[in-house]
Order: sequence, then structure tokens, then C-alpha cells
Amino acid sequence: MSDQGILAVVSGFSGAGKGTLMKELLRRYDNYALSVSATTRSPREGEVHGREYFFVTEEEFDRLIREDQLIEYARYVKHSYGTPKSYVMEQLRAGKDVILEIEIQGALKVKKQFPDTLLLFVSAPDVAELKRRLVGRGSESEEVIRERLARAKEEAEGMAGYDYLLINDDLDACVEEMHRIIQAQHARVSNNQGFIERIRRELAEC
Ligand code: ADP
Ligand code: 5GP
Repeated sequence: MSDQGILAVVSGFSGAGKGTLMKELLRRYDNYALSVSATTRSPREGEVHGREYFFVTEEEFDRLIREDQLIEYARYVKHSYGTPKSYVMEQLRAGKDVILEIEIQGALKVKKQFPDTLLLFVSAPDVAELKRRLVGRGSESEEVIRERLARAKEEAEGMAGYDYLLINDDLDACVEEMHRIIQAQHARVSNNQGFIERIRRELAEC
């Protein structure tokens, strides 16, 4: 087993199915911890404070920044989003594989602080399907959908910097692929320094 949990970032166009994938991954496997972000946007129908997000005011968000409680934060279509630090660090130390479902600017900040972070990008198979999903979700106005699609154009520029691309066509296949990719990281040499040191010690003594 590797030294500690894997830190994985999942990004992708709005409506690609990130939230749906995360729910399914966590339902199937129990070694994952999904970080719950703070945001200044309003809850969608069915979203619960502390489960999908910590829904906070602009003032509360500013306080989290001032008190250095966030690993990263970014603006996305008129709202702020940020990753609470303490939960992520605790879960990694406990050996959990921690997933941050965050946008691209935040992903790059996390990678800078933690260079072993695995960056996964999720896309729908094509833009027509992406629009169908965004509209079908029925949670945003036409104007916000337009803004989110405009943001997707910018995000497409950053896709090449990610480690893996996941096409969310068949949900079941995509969940399994995500799980395989994350689990494979446990075998990376950089995640096994503890094992390497032990085996060297044992060899030195024999
Ligand atoms: P995101 O979190 O990336 O914005 P969601 O998880 O909210 O996206 O998914 C957007 C919409 O697409 C939802 O209505 C969801 O049920 C649907 N969806 C997600 N994955 C698939 C899939 N593989 N096939 C068809 N519809 C999907
Ligand atoms: P939504 O409003 O659809 O839930 O999220 C909008 C975007 O914000 C998505 O791309 C989502 O991944 C991103 N996001 C959610 N939480 C965070 C966070 O803590 N930090 C950053 N940088 N982005 C986040």
C-alpha cells in the first residue's frame, strides 16, 4: 500500500456529468473521500448545506480566505468556490483517496502545491450532448447556461494540461475507468517512498 491517499482533481465542462460520476463512484467504493467546497452560489433544488457544498455569504467566504482555511479558491461565473484545507489533509493522512471536483484555475493551484496530484478531465461525448445535459438538468437560467458554455470554451484550452481525459458517455464505464486510473496511482514510485526506504534498510542489514 502506498504512503498515503491519492489526491485527485476532477474537472470538466459544466453539465459533463462530474457530480453524477462522483456520487456513483462513492456509492460503489468506500476508500474515497469527496471534498465539500465552500461556495457563494445559491443551492440548487435538492442540494443540502454540508453535503454538496457549504453555502456561504461573500463575507464568510472572505473570512475563510483571510484565515487561510482554503487550499485554493477561484471565481466561476460570478461566484466564488474554494476547497477547505483541514478535511483534505486529514483524509489523505488517514489513507483515503481524496477527490476535489473543482474548475481548472483551482486545479492548477492544487497541482502547484501538491505536484503528485492526479488531474482528470471529464467531457461529454460532444457539444450537442453537453447542451442537452445542461438544459435537461433544468437548474440554471438560459443566461447562466450561455455563460457556462462560454466558460467551457476557455476550459477547453486547458484540457491538454491534464493527465487523463474521461469521456462520460456510458456512465457505468466512465465510473469504472475513473476508479482504475486513480487506483493505479497507488503503484507510482513517488507514492511509495516508505516502502522503498524499508526495503533498502532490510537489504542493508542482510
Ligand atoms: P456537472 O456536475 O458536470 O455539471 P451533472 O452531474 O449535474 O454535471 O450532470 C448534468 C446532467 O447530465 C444531469 O441531469 C445528469 O443526470 C446527466 N448525466 C450525467 N451523466 C450522464 C451520462 N453518462 N449520460 C446521460 N446523462 C448524464
Ligand atoms: P457548480 O456551480 O456547477 O456546482 O460548479 C461550478 C464549477 O465550480 C464547476 O466547474 C466545479 O467543478 C467548480 N468548483 C466547485 N467547487 C470548487 C472549488 O472548491 N474550487 C474551485 N476552484 N472550483 C470549484
